[in-house]
Amino acid sequence: MTETQTQQHSFQAEIRQLLHLLSHSLYQNREITIRELISNASDALDKFRYHAVTSGQGSVEGLGIWLEPDKDAKILVIRDNGIGMTQQELIQNLGTIARSGSLEFLKQAKSRAGEGTPDLSLIGQFGVGFYSAFMLADRVEVISRSASDTTAWRWESTGDGTFTISPVTESVERGTSIRLHLKEGMDEFTEAVRLKYIVRKYSTFVPHAIWLDAEHVNDQPPIWLEPKTSVTDEQYQNFYEYLTHYPGQQPIWHLHLAADSPFQFHSILYCPDANLERMGFGRTDHGLHLCARRILVQNDNRDLLPDYLRFLRGIVDSADLPLNVSREALQDNTVFRKMQKVITRKVLDHLDSLATVHRETYEKFYREFGVILREGVTANDGNRDRTAALLRFTSTTSAGTGELVSLQHYVDRAKEGQQQIYFACGTDQNAILRDPNLEVFRKRNLEVLVLTDPADEYIISSLGTFAEKKIVSIDAAELQLPPQSADEQSKEPAEQQKNQENAAELDQLIGVFKEVLGERVQDVRRSERLTESVCCLVNAEGSMSTTMQRILRMNTPEFEMQKMILELNPTAALIQRLATLAASSTGLDFVRQCALQLHANAMLQAGLAPDGNEMAARLQDFMLQLASGK
Ligand code: ADP
Repeated sequence: MTETQTQQHSFQAEIRQLLHLLSHSLYQNREITIRELISNASDALDKFRYHAVTSGQGSVEGLGIWLEPDKDAKILVIRDNGIGMTQQELIQNLGTIARSGSLEFLKQAKSRAGEGTPDLSLIGQFGVGFYSAFMLADRVEVISRSASDTTAWRWESTGDGTFTISPVTESVERGTSIRLHLKEGMDEFTEAVRLKYIVRKYSTFVPHAIWLDAEHVNDQPPIWLEPKTSVTDEQYQNFYEYLTHYPGQQPIWHLHLAADSPFQFHSILYCPDANLERMGFGRTDHGLHLCARRILVQNDNRDLLPDYLRFLRGIVDSADLPLNVSREALQDNTVFRKMQKVITRKVLDHLDSLATVHRETYEKFYREFGVILREGVTANDGNRDRTAALLRFTSTTSAGTGELVSLQHYVDRAKEGQQQIYFACGTDQNAILRDPNLEVFRKRNLEVLVLTDPADEYIISSLGTFAEKKIVSIDAAELQLPPQSADEQSKEPAEQQKNQENAAELDQLIGVFKEVLGERVQDVRRSERLTESVCCLVNAEGSMSTTMQRILRMNTPEFEMQKMILELNPTAALIQRLATLAASSTGLDFVRQCALQLHANAMLQAGLAPDGNEMAARLQDFMLQLASGK
């Protein structure tokens, strides 16, 4: 090689800027350079394979990528036997024609620059590719021989504005070698262990063998591209462990998807066996691996699945995704949005069929992830009804059996003429089951959903209706019970008769209660729902349920509880006795005290706190009266 054969070229202006930016950056995540160079090598191998297959020239055997570190010389070579580059291609591809991805990256990085430090975290999304070599190396040599050439060429640069091209005299195999003369402090990139780690992290599923020290580093087969019938359970399990880094953990279920139209994608999604969010790990911060033709482009994409499916792990590989764009641009991309819809729908389909065919698995899943899935009801993405159908609850009918009830199941077995779906909420199941409001439901054998999680109440209240039945709290004023059957009515004629007789006295009693309780209640009225308890508090029409108010109050002390309605049970012996007393002028004082105490009792039963001092004083007064034989 003589001096005259070495030509010097100037980098195109933008490339010069890009190089300057990359070679002077302090960006820490330098390992992505390896990913970029492997990705280029893989593309070159794809091109060669295509060329060989279409032209019938050259063998597609033994294609691969080799990492060759030299610790002493501080050199890392990344070599492939792909399509290679001619002299002309070296000049154009690596220096004079700026790729749109590089330009876009440059623009974005500069526009986000604060205090003169461009934002290089975008680098992975733009595929700046080859030039990232200058993050690791202060001198880069590219020796390449094209499949269509007998001579090899050397491209060389220190990244400072110019590069040289010269012929290589010795014989060189087809393909490209990138020789990185590593900068000071970049020794880690000559360590085999480190390099293998990087390859496994970013390039495991590159469709060509990657070799280091005669070891095939990425020997994991890309199972998502294979038909599901040919993938073994063990392979699914291995891939899951690779994705989650949790050896031995088994997913609850997995879903293997493939589609060709309207766009092409392959995907394997896994549902982990435990919900880390529930275990106090905070919001799940992992996402899906997004790949374009097997090359990992984002390893934690959180936009492809809606929030309420954020617990899924897995991979989505699609040649149709425009992956060299920013995350924001990706979200606005039409194909991406359609893919979101399709994948979400497929997951919901899968959950539906799981619930029907493998009920136990579904319930196990629901107990873990129902708390996230239910957010789908309020997500406003068109899947409200579908996610509502996937909700599960315990109910007065299922309590104790461990069975979970769906809204559909509830509706299917509702009483004739029942227009509403009833729910009761509270802090724990036993407290709810003791709620006096439940009495009439128990007596009439009406199923009530038992909600112990306030978020469930929120979800179900925002759902409002299911299968055209209004969903109401048992302590709501708008509660409507189905009409009593003739059979039910015939059981209690005597009682009704008695109530009739006492109607006037009861009205008078209600009058006394109203007067005494005043502002403490919105109203006092005769109860249709109590059968055993003396009284209860219910919520006025349109107001929030008691649990909801209690939660609000806990978080915002200034929140005023809404006034409630006190209902009196006309069949209760105490109420009848008090009604009689109220009608006589002598017992009125005592009746007034009882009104206050019954209201306090009802508050306690509704989980509210009455004034303790006032109540203690009153109870002691009652005791004194009893003790004095009054
Ligand atoms: P991109 O890979 O996004 O096109 P790069 O800057 O990484 O951008 O590479 C520029 C071009 O150089 C590639 O498009 C390809 O034509 C060529 N090239 C890079 N690496 C290789 C390689 N190992 N073998 C053959 N051609 C390569």
